[in-house]
Amino acid sequence: MSKSAIFYILGLLVVLVLVLVGLLTANAVVNARGTAAEKPRFDLPSDIPWNRIPWKEFPEDFPYDQVPWEDLPEDTPWEQVPWEKVPWDVLPDELASKLPLESIPWDVLPDDMPWDSLPEDLPWDKIPWESVPWSELPTDFPWESVPWEELPDDFNWQAVTCEHLFTEILPYIPATCVNSGWEIYVCEKCGYSEPRETEPTGVHVYEGEWLPVNPATCVEEGLEHRVCVQCNVAEETQTISPTGVHNFDVGGKCDMCGLQQLTLRSGSATKQYDGIPLSAENYQKVFGTLQSGHSIVAVYTQLNVVSVAANVFSVTVVDDEGNDVSDKYQITYEYGALTLTKKELIVTTCNATAQFDGNALVCHDYNQTGLAEGDVLKVTFVSALTERGTCANVATVRIENSKGEDVTANYAITLVFGTLTLT
Ligand SMILES: [Zn+2]
Ligand SMILES: [Zn+2]
Ligand SMILES: [Zn+2]
Repeated sequence: MSKSAIFYILGLLVVLVLVLVGLLTANAVVNARGTAAEKPRFDLPSDIPWNRIPWKEFPEDFPYDQVPWEDLPEDTPWEQVPWEKVPWDVLPDELASKLPLESIPWDVLPDDMPWDSLPEDLPWDKIPWESVPWSELPTDFPWESVPWEELPDDFNWQAVTCEHLFTEILPYIPATCVNSGWEIYVCEKCGYSEPRETEPTGVHVYEGEWLPVNPATCVEEGLEHRVCVQCNVAEETQTISPTGVHNFDVGGKCDMCGLQQLTLRSGSATKQYDGIPLSAENYQKVFGTLQSGHSIVAVYTQLNVVSVAANVFSVTVVDDEGNDVSDKYQITYEYGALTLTKKELIVTTCNATAQFDGNALVCHDYNQTGLAEGDVLKVTFVSALTERGTCANVATVRIENSKGEDVTANYAITLVFGTLTLT
């Protein structure tokens, strides 16, 4: 091995040792710097359900500067975030620019919100000033902290200073009978709009078909209803008139109300007038059955005048205590015929003969056959002979019954006039 070769190897070894020492030293320096320069950071997992976190219970030293504000879900309870603890002044620049400013509930910020601590580089142009409820900001809002000069060119100054005049109200969500609705109020000066809740109308809306609750029967009212189309709860009802239509079985009984059909036919009779009214006081049951204990009381027609007439009758159904139970029956009447014929009556006026002596000759006697018992025959003579000769002894007749009523028409009358003769 030559001398130069040995130097060469030694040289390599020295270089190797130097390199190793240098590497170790550099590593130690890096480690030392890292430990000294960075505070220990909480190791927040990426999947924290921020919207379910009880913010108020966080420890004093919670690292708000590590909260991924820009990624928090929309339903984060912003009003619970203890904004006064958020280290606004130490928020990294890039984080401040990502704050979800439009989601911060400015009106619910605590009174002791550290406005003065807002980072200077807060992206003012991103604050949705139009949405800031200025009237509800705390009285100690540090207006002097707002870097007005940094606001964007298109900043809506009027929205900040406007005393709104809401003249336009736009429908948004209509109120219903039980639920409030929403309207959009638009300021005519600045265009600012805000939703406002409206009262429920309190008026149910009934439309459409009535639906049966209880159907009407032949005799009982039914009930139908319909439900409010808005709340589906309130309902209105109305009664349905009874149908009046019975459902009779083969025996004539309504299977809904028990009404019983009856058909009754009165008898017939014929006679010649005899002064006694004609009647036929009997009936026949043509159809239907009486309930046990029920009986019929009938009232019939009496015929006094020669004619053919229906034997009209009416009945009352009574129970065994005499109570009228006719309303349990639907009665159909059929009528027999009453036929009263005329009675023959012959009235014969008298004959008379006399010598003329200047006086009129009359004869007021008569015979009759056929007058009914109880009737009265009244004969009125019209003839009086006043000169020699002959004439019929003419008379008119009228028959009255015992009540004085004219019953002449009930007779077939034959008048046989006698003769008056003056010689
Ligand atoms: Zn306005
Ligand atoms: Zn309703
Ligand atoms: Zn019925």
